[in-house]
Amino acid sequence: MTDNTLIAVKPEIAAGSHADAERRTAMVAEATKDPDGFWAREMNRLAWMRAPTKIKNTSFEGDVSIRWFEDGVLNLTESCLDRHVEGGRGDAVAIIWEGDDPKADAHVTYRQLLERVCRLANAMKSLGVRRGDRVSIYLPMIVESAVAMLACARIGAVHSVIFGGFSPDSLSSRIQDCESTLLITADEGRRGGRTVPLKANADEALKSCPTIRNVIVARNTGGGVAMEDGRDHDWAELCDAQSAECAPEPMGAEDPLFILYTSGSTGKPKGVLHTTGGYGVWAAFTHELVFDYRPGEVYWCTADVGWVTGHTYIVYGPLANGATTLMFEGVPNWPDSSRFWSVVDKHKVNIFYTAPTAIRALMREGEAPVKKSSRKSLRILGSVGEPINPEAWLWYYRVVGDERCPIVDTWWQTETGGILISPLPGSVAQKPGSATLPLPGVFPALVDNDGAILEGATEGNLVITDSWPGQMRTVFRDHERFVQTYFSTFPGKYFTGDGARRDEDGYWWITGRVDDVLNVSGHRMGTAEIESALVAHPKVAEAAVVGMPHEIKGQGIYAYVTLKVDEEPTEALRKELVAWVRKEIGPIASPDAIQWAPGLPKTRSGKIMRRILRKIAANETDNLGDTSTLADPTVVQDLIGNRVG
Ligand code: ATP
Ligand code: MG
Repeated sequence: MTDNTLIAVKPEIAAGSHADAERRTAMVAEATKDPDGFWAREMNRLAWMRAPTKIKNTSFEGDVSIRWFEDGVLNLTESCLDRHVEGGRGDAVAIIWEGDDPKADAHVTYRQLLERVCRLANAMKSLGVRRGDRVSIYLPMIVESAVAMLACARIGAVHSVIFGGFSPDSLSSRIQDCESTLLITADEGRRGGRTVPLKANADEALKSCPTIRNVIVARNTGGGVAMEDGRDHDWAELCDAQSAECAPEPMGAEDPLFILYTSGSTGKPKGVLHTTGGYGVWAAFTHELVFDYRPGEVYWCTADVGWVTGHTYIVYGPLANGATTLMFEGVPNWPDSSRFWSVVDKHKVNIFYTAPTAIRALMREGEAPVKKSSRKSLRILGSVGEPINPEAWLWYYRVVGDERCPIVDTWWQTETGGILISPLPGSVAQKPGSATLPLPGVFPALVDNDGAILEGATEGNLVITDSWPGQMRTVFRDHERFVQTYFSTFPGKYFTGDGARRDEDGYWWITGRVDDVLNVSGHRMGTAEIESALVAHPKVAEAAVVGMPHEIKGQGIYAYVTLKVDEEPTEALRKELVAWVRKEIGPIASPDAIQWAPGLPKTRSGKIMRRILRKIAANETDNLGDTSTLADPTVVQDLIGNRVG
């Protein structure tokens, strides 16, 4: 079920946009013909201490070497902070913080943010943290998390942010992997009215982390926590004693900026390493173009800073562009399911960026919670993390955006540093469920399983044939694994692990992970299409489809279906859904089994973990693989208990 309706660019969005049709065409042409010339101009989005003279030096062959702007020197925090303050925008709001408690919020100006970053940077130096050292950050969604990341960048330390919802085990394995010497955490976090015992988790984790010498603890809830003498330091006490000025460390463009572990949807998380110059350029470039960011606008990305989306589109991209970025501590459905929209109204949010999982969850609750808000300030809506089903796309467009706001469905990965495929609101007409077209300077292709490039309207493995500045450089201390994971399946090309379809208009549709592709009687099918057909049924809120062993077909189709609130799972509905999918896609796609799922197993970033569902469908539940990034293990027990067939 693919919707081929074109939703044209609105004249009011095109007018004055950063990339109207003409400009986009020119950019695509130049970035293709003369990448060095193109990026030598775009790099001026950042403040350089020494401007690069070498622009692109990359090879996907052999040992794989990716270098951008390599002789340039910069400190990314100058681009994100100093230059705005020096340029007379010191009193502009950098961060609006909205607490879990709807009554709690704060505004931090660029000047205040710079000062806080410098104090913490000096504090870290006083604890012996040096350029190149790794610092782990385990914080809730509070301003301190942005301060901590930027303070690392200020002194050239490499940050590794670990999502505040992770367990002590997940925390310790990520600390051990990068051998960080400092951990920055908080007493407790708040989420959906509950407290999260961060410091207690950290204490537990640190029992197996001998490299950690110091811990800085932010007082957030004020809850009492144990402090270990000589190791643990109170953030405020430590920072109050420091100077509010800290000279930015001159960094090479290819010096590491951060390590971040992937979500773990397909297996054990990978430690992705990003460097300074190319990542910074990519963050600033894509944030302005994709969200058509205009000065003075309030921009809100609902991700957590523990994910790459939070790195690039809460912290580095918006701050490099001098934007006002909103940081939200809470969850979409607390105190009630209109929270997102009341925050939009409260802070007059212009650009809103969230994930399909949140949209589908809110859709389940109906229109009323949305409609009680005005949402008049909204101009652009974004989606990231999974394929967005056309049904959810249309709901987002009609109900949330009142058909006024373009939707940017942004396809990218932790590895890509920033968005690679997305409509640009000023120039690209949208199709519900399609990420549309690559950004200027991005060269995707489809290949068959032998690596041959496929032309025209077709489906295949999604690869990228040449480098872009924001690309990951290596797996931390394991270049071999980097080459193996991303460049060995299709030598000479970056393999994304995703499948995609390109339609007659050259639009790209992500069909899901290639590991999840089904092979039913010799027909290859992506999961996204069947799931979208199910979600299009008026009673269905969410669906996940996997293959299961089938004697005749090779693989049969096993669907897990979550119904909308108040819908009854009946035998009649089961039959109706099978018939519905047959009608929407064809008999080849009829589900062989449908299991009612009150919840689906998801990563903590909200993505469906189909590899676990595959095991349940195949009744191989003794070995579920790496489940450390699973958000709610009880969901899995329930599904195992109610397996069909
Ligand atoms: P791991 O690599 O550890 O298995 P992960 O792939 O979920 O985890 P991320 O880097 O957070 O880790 O997610 C990137 C993946 O998310 C993409 O490869 C793609 O499968 C999916 N994705 C992200 N955005 C979109 C989108 N707009 N449309 C379709 N899929 C998307
Ligand atoms: Mg991945």
